Amino acid sequence: MICLGVESTAHTFSCAVLNKNGKRGEILSDVRKIYGPPKGEGIHPREASRHHVENGSTVLVEALQKAKISVTDLDIISYAAGPGLGPCLRVGAVVSRALASYYKIPIFPVNHALGHIELGKMLTGAKNPLVLLVSGGHTMLLAFLGKKWRVFGETLDITLGQLLDQFGRSIGFASPCGKKIEELAEKKSNYIPLPYSVQGNDVSFSGLLSATKNIVNEGVEDACYSLQETAFAMICEATERALAFTKKKELMIVGGVAANKRLSTMLQSICKRQKCKFFVVPQKFAGDCGSQIAWQGLLEASVKKGTSLENTFVKQSWRLDTVEIPY
Ligand code: AMP
Ligand code: MG
Repeated sequence: MICLGVESTAHTFSCAVLNKNGKRGEILSDVRKIYGPPKGEGIHPREASRHHVENGSTVLVEALQKAKISVTDLDIISYAAGPGLGPCLRVGAVVSRALASYYKIPIFPVNHALGHIELGKMLTGAKNPLVLLVSGGHTMLLAFLGKKWRVFGETLDITLGQLLDQFGRSIGFASPCGKKIEELAEKKSNYIPLPYSVQGNDVSFSGLLSATKNIVNEGVEDACYSLQETAFAMICEATERALAFTKKKELMIVGGVAANKRLSTMLQSICKRQKCKFFVVPQKFAGDCGSQIAWQGLLEASVKKGTSLENTFVKQSWRLDTVEIPY
């Protein structure tokens, strides 16, 4: 079964074509165009959606060409219906709805966060992991139980990706800033104490963000290092407690921040202590991409029919722990 997946929840417009054969998935193409705000600024939803409108057709054509198929070869289309920025989500929904309606192809609105998790499982081979989802839109610890992903800890304010991006932007970097902060943090190892806030099994980053802005005058590299060490230690504490509680034998990290090597190293040492296997999504598929959405669509299509065009909604705040998993 061949699926076109369309991702447009935030900065990325991406189309990917995946083929599912039994339980195996094959990525035939994955094309992305990423909206980059001006230096020091965050994503402006209207500007990002304009970017998606302007680039959508090129990305779609390239994805089909790279996969060596035409629209009529598609068995299904899936698109990220949420959570995300309304104007951006609507671009992906309109493109998908138009194709589905004109070519009479079954359509599946899917949850973006589920896409991160399921593609991570497909690519790493993790079977029943505790999942750490850390991205621009999410900071959550999740385990699957009784047909739903249950939350075992999350951020009480901004996400880990927002923490890094907002700090980076405050000192003039272009967003997303995670990679640049990681590079600068590798150059220094002088730790400047910063507020550490784990409440129950949830984390809170806003105080850490303000405090890090105040230590920049002591050196940008030291500030980046101290920020990473503090934020990642908080995540690690919550993760280790969730592992001990759920007794999971696997930990999988997905989302854009999963590309960070220091975070993986710290989580690996926890896994060693808790005697569990560690999986990290390949860097190329850590950030938002159409492959996540296509694979999620293929999984849902294995147990249910496509939705009617009237139900091809977008939902800006669509929590993944409200979604019943049918497969
Ligand atoms: P996503 O929302 O899944 O596309 O992830 C985007 C987020 O990942 C942004 O907040 C980036 O700053 C962050 N990110 C990307 N690469 C890295 C990295 N190497 N280290 C830390 N964060 C990163
Ligand atoms: Mg994401």
